Amino acid sequence: MRGKHAIVVGGSVGGLFTAHYLHRNGWTVDVLEQVQENLASRGTGIAWHKELEEIRDELGLPRDDTVGVDVRGRTAFDRTGKIISEFDLTQRLGAWNRVFQPLYDAFPNAHYHNGAAVTGLETDGERAAVTTRDGRSFEGDVVIGADGFRSVVRGAVAPEILPVYSGYVAWRGVSREENLSHAFRENVFHHYAFLFMRSSLLIGYPMAGADGSIEPGGRRYNYLWYYPAPGDELTDILTDADGKVYEYGIPPARMRPEHIDAVKENARRDMPESFHDAVNFADTTIVQPIYDVFSQKIAFGNVALVGVAAFVARPHVGTGVMKSAQDGRALANALGACDSIPDAMARYEAERLRPGQRAVWQGRDLGSFIERGHERPEDDPNFNLPPERAIRISGRPVEHMLEQGL
Ligand SMILES: Cc1cc2nc3c(=O)[nH]c(=O)nc-3n(C[C@H](O)[C@H](O)[C@H](O)COP(=O)(O)OP(=O)(O)OC[C@H]3O[C@@H](n4cnc5c(N)ncnc54)[C@H](O)[C@@H]3O)c2cc1C
Repeated sequence: MRGKHAIVVGGSVGGLFTAHYLHRNGWTVDVLEQVQENLASRGTGIAWHKELEEIRDELGLPRDDTVGVDVRGRTAFDRTGKIISEFDLTQRLGAWNRVFQPLYDAFPNAHYHNGAAVTGLETDGERAAVTTRDGRSFEGDVVIGADGFRSVVRGAVAPEILPVYSGYVAWRGVSREENLSHAFRENVFHHYAFLFMRSSLLIGYPMAGADGSIEPGGRRYNYLWYYPAPGDELTDILTDADGKVYEYGIPPARMRPEHIDAVKENARRDMPESFHDAVNFADTTIVQPIYDVFSQKIAFGNVALVGVAAFVARPHVGTGVMKSAQDGRALANALGACDSIPDAMARYEAERLRPGQRAVWQGRDLGSFIERGHERPEDDPNFNLPPERAIRISGRPVEHMLEQGL
């Protein structure tokens, strides 16, 4: 099918990958993004995968060897700071906005609508229409939900699929290399580090500087610290100084300082001294509650879900960006190859449902020791997760693990 019209709800990377592929196939595509400003000012570090590079090449996006910092492998540390395992695996650690910005720049500006928060969706199976908070309406042959974790599109077509809280959060922060101590820069900075602590795990790695620099001195260090936060603690973390509760995630500027102080205090108590800088020198500290979204269906008549709207796998899996790109490509290719929208939707779902489900399972397994309050990942015999295995299978597509029998 060519010459049709798609409405893509959500203008982050999943929406833009899908929009580019459809556009290439001769479709008219309107992308609706609720946020008013350009998203590129947001985001931290992401793991880069060869599949993502292939998709960027396929879309003709410029190759750029400065998108990230290359590391030679992963290193597991125990809570005393001792290295307990190492695994050689060259990998590029990039920044989210280096994926977003070229996609945004290459998409026709007139068809990317900032400040378009979708509030409603109607479809008769042939045509579908969405309405926005400011009263606009957009109609097309298909609607694609690329609107993330709290997807309005998913809520309209599959209200039974809901995020399930894991019982822990990821504290995240990025520090400038120039602010880090000499000891940290010498001993920790270059590692893609997994620091295993009691029921908690810090993952840290170098990334490019805010200006894109990958030269020593101009880079940054990114950390994610998975830390238990039972439901009532989570509510407290998500409550601002005026008592307003942000149900799924609090903007960093609204976070109460006492919570950030507590993260630093916990770091001093739980982490070896060699890692303190990662947390203490972060320019901003943000919190991400960890949820699972597991779907049994991702196509509904002439409405489809892609990326995070379709599945939320915990960040241990590290493939959210790549997966959203693969979903977008599969959907656009199916719509291009089939004679009818129902056939295309069936084909898309057949191709992408299982990979999404596998990613959610993998994320649950990798985080189970934090969720269940175990001392170490290997303490639960159901998961076969000694640190040497955990560092091999984290931050990699599940499909690679299956291919390699891991
Ligand atoms: C600004 C931003 C920064 C990120 N930074 C990182 C990072 O540094 N590291 C990392 O690992 N992952 C990051 N992520 C998440 C990761 O990028 C996702 O896994 C990946 O982007 C694929 O997700 P997606 O495009 O499917 O959904 P998302 O990236 O979650 O994007 C969903 C988009 O839909 C928009 N939206 C939601 N509801 C509506 C609505 N009703 N109407 C219109 N628009 C709507 C949102 O504003 C958002 O832009 C980030 C996501 C965003 C949005």
